[in-house]
Amino acid sequence: MNSKDLINLEQKFGAHNYHPLDVVITRGKGVWVWDVEGKKYLDFLAAYSALNQGHCHPRLVEAVKTQIEKLTLTSRAFRNDQLALFYQTVNELTGFEAILPMNSGAEAVETAIKVVRKWGYMKKGVPTDKAKIIVSENNFHGRTTTIISFSSEQSYRKGFGPFTPGFEIIPFGDIDALRNCIDENTVAFLTEPIQGESGIIIPPTGFLKEAFQLCRQNEVLLILDEIQSGLGRTGKMFAYQHELESEPDGVIIGKALSGGMYPVSAFLSNWEVMEVIKPGEHGSTFGGNPLAAVIAQEALKILVDEKLIENSAQMGEYLLDQLKQMNINSLKEIRGKGLWIGIELDHPVRKEAEKLMDKGILCKETHENTLRIAPPLIINKQEIDWALDKINTVLV
Ligand SMILES: *Cc1c(COP(=O)(O)O)cnc(C)c1O
Repeated sequence: MNSKDLINLEQKFGAHNYHPLDVVITRGKGVWVWDVEGKKYLDFLAAYSALNQGHCHPRLVEAVKTQIEKLTLTSRAFRNDQLALFYQTVNELTGFEAILPMNSGAEAVETAIKVVRKWGYMKKGVPTDKAKIIVSENNFHGRTTTIISFSSEQSYRKGFGPFTPGFEIIPFGDIDALRNCIDENTVAFLTEPIQGESGIIIPPTGFLKEAFQLCRQNEVLLILDEIQSGLGRTGKMFAYQHELESEPDGVIIGKALSGGMYPVSAFLSNWEVMEVIKPGEHGSTFGGNPLAAVIAQEALKILVDEKLIENSAQMGEYLLDQLKQMNINSLKEIRGKGLWIGIELDHPVRKEAEKLMDKGILCKETHENTLRIAPPLIINKQEIDWALDKINTVLV
């Protein structure tokens, strides 16, 4: 079947909950993908940072093949021989003492919410059902009913109420607003360190550090959603490492934790927080399954072995610098950290994304006016130069 037939079929039978570019991909290798007609594209989105290791990384393919013939699922009713090794790898590479594995990013966010609420009742002494979590305006943490309850984006919420109470929204990066919002029932401040969906929005320098201090002073947990910003995307293992010297109270990871092979996510914290969860209080049939555990171990080791985090910092700096030197039409702002760049124009950029697609580059608009650029972290200078050449013909 050709692209057109496949698109028509998809439209006919599938819920129209996305508005994808009309490219039907059939194969991927590294930073490149091919559509069903055989046209080659550079993937400049990397599945919203789930493909930091690139498409079909040979080590991940090998890991999957080996494990899939051996054992895929036990449920947590029994133990499996890969889970402990996954935990150990995460601890070695992140420094967090404890982990709770899930599948999708939204599930790991839900996990964090449950854990910090329980911590609030057990350890901080917050009265039953009074726990408050502070979040940032224009956040993106996923699509469950509880998570959209604290979204400020109307299209995520409209028609989906009633909503879960217990959240308060402050402007992103506003330390005074955070200070004023904290009260005796506040259990956590949950935020992305850099906002991805809302357009690679970087808070004022020092915000995260001050927020952490403020949280410490008030017995409030700082929980960072690093699902998109983490695992090398910004040129550090975690985006918070650009500012914080020690770990925050909790961090949520997903996406690149599996290198695009499979949904794997986790909530990480120290024992002081994680110990509030007891048997039977939370779980997931697939969470921590042996296939996921093998994939995640390998995906993390690839980041380190192939120096992808360093590459993200170097290539990101080069790409941002080159883009800033271009005379981009209707440019409002260009910003980024590592291989994570937002090009904001003064009008919707869907047309530009489509033109880039015609030239062989796949990226997409986020929040209408911003092109999000987030290639796999394995990208080299030659490939970036190739892309810059195409971008130059479309945006300048
Ligand atoms: C993608 C994302 C999520 C949700 O992850 P899913 O796997 O789509 O549920 C949550 N938070 C952030 C910051 C994300 O980028």
